[in-house]
Amino acid sequence: MSPTLEMSHEFEVAVAAVQAAKTVCKRVQKELVDEHAMDKKDKSPVTVADFASQAIICGVLNESFEGIAIVGEEDSADLQKEENAGLKAMVVEQVNSMFEEEVNDEEVLRWIDCGNAEPADHQRYWTLDPIDGTKGFLRKQQYAIALGQIYEGEVVMGILGCPNLDILNDEENPSGLLITAIQGQGACMVSMDRHAGDAIAINVSDVSDPKEARLCESVESGHSNQSSSAKIAAKLGITKEPYRIDSQCKYAAIARGDAEVYLRLPTRGDYQEKIWDHAAGMIAVLEAGGRVTDIYGNDLDFSKGKTLSANKGVIATNGKFHDQVVKAVGEVLGL
Ligand code: AMP
Ligand code: MG
Repeated sequence: MSPTLEMSHEFEVAVAAVQAAKTVCKRVQKELVDEHAMDKKDKSPVTVADFASQAIICGVLNESFEGIAIVGEEDSADLQKEENAGLKAMVVEQVNSMFEEEVNDEEVLRWIDCGNAEPADHQRYWTLDPIDGTKGFLRKQQYAIALGQIYEGEVVMGILGCPNLDILNDEENPSGLLITAIQGQGACMVSMDRHAGDAIAINVSDVSDPKEARLCESVESGHSNQSSSAKIAAKLGITKEPYRIDSQCKYAAIARGDAEVYLRLPTRGDYQEKIWDHAAGMIAVLEAGGRVTDIYGNDLDFSKGKTLSANKGVIATNGKFHDQVVKAVGEVLGL
């Protein structure tokens, strides 16, 4: 960490857990076959790596700190079904590859379900997306392992593992990028293979003319309205091609100055953003000097439970012309 970033023991353990999960995620993504994935009830995909990552991170945190609360994306219900026995066996194998002592099936399922805390029951809790951007993961592209801590409805810490991003932008041989942020202490990044103590401070870019800005958005057009974002970009005079990248890697791009504007524009009126899709990324951008609001310009409200029910969409920027972006979004979407 930078000399000013003080990591608590819990934070260090959480970083190590994300690094361990990354090892499994990288291995599964490299060897990916159809049998590694299934569809959830909501038709979204989930893989061996999503479950193994949640088991490892929740297992490590739960075994290290009694009474810790974690609100994670996954649960073990589907894995317990007879028809998914093969998938469960692969999850158990992947989890075991990271521990010296054997972890049996029941323990792996229990660890996954350590991520089933209810926000309303806890003043302080972690929120985990074990693989954010599973669709990108399945395309062998970008994804993130995202862990944020919420205290009294505010995000206070974030750990964002981006295994296919690289400090040197070496696409051929990415080392992975780990971004850490602590409220009031700034944001840092380090190669995922290095100790978090070697991290360097990161800052948003100082581009202050929107015409020079680069806009990033989802690869999946179902997750963000790309035709509206093209109109907003045109209104702002942005001419660069949009940077389309899956997962909270978009927040990482803003936090380290690879792009200046991240738009997540609702594709349907009833969608509520999930806290684990934004906590770690948002604090990284804020602590790197940027701004994050919803499409109305309101702060994201993490005090409402598992979803950001008081907000619609997300606008993250380097903070130099945020109000201009909010205005352009409002005009294009007719808010
Ligand atoms: P991204 O990789 O940024 O496109 O976002 C991936 C996340 O989008 C997943 O973790 C889902 O939770 C979330 N998601 C799923 N459906 C929608 C939707 N209709 N609008 C916005 N986000 C969604
Ligand atoms: Mg996600």
